[in-house]
Amino acid sequence: MFMNNDNNKGLKVYNLLVQKYFISEKFLLTFAYRKLNMVYITRKEHFCAAHKLYNKHWSPEENNKVFGKCASPNFHGHNYDIYVTIKGKINPESGFVINLFELSDILKHDVVELLDHKNLNLDIEYFKIQLPSIENLSVFIWNLINKKIKRTGAQLHCIKIQETENNFAEYYGE
Ligand SMILES: [Zn+2]
Repeated sequence: MFMNNDNNKGLKVYNLLVQKYFISEKFLLTFAYRKLNMVYITRKEHFCAAHKLYNKHWSPEENNKVFGKCASPNFHGHNYDIYVTIKGKINPESGFVINLFELSDILKHDVVELLDHKNLNLDIEYFKIQLPSIENLSVFIWNLINKKIKRTGAQLHCIKIQETENNFAEYYGE
């Protein structure tokens, strides 16, 4: 309401309510907060890891056909970029949907420290069962951080993970 299209009018009403009717600013901010639009904010982090995409039930030819160079028997590395998008309303006191320092700490602590410079197939339990594709990585990362993001009061919206310049996956928790 106050902060959308009609800024000047909104401000006048706001001042009137505060100064003439002594309605507390905190009450008005809480009311305005409920009316504010949803905003999406993204933090990017980075890690390097090795993997191999290989289905042991298939022949080497089939694996090469499906996975190409990613089926190379002695593993290979990628530089992964992860984009974590948080959804929420702007906190009127901080102006934030989520404090990006806090989000960055969660990502560094729970994701980057776990995956950076690792062999995904050998070092991460989850990928002993699932193939470490970007699709599975996006779901894995979602599950790693979802609860912690909720505890901040914000909502996880999307995990995007980019493996090469041309290939990326997005997961929305569905
Ligand atoms: Zn690969």
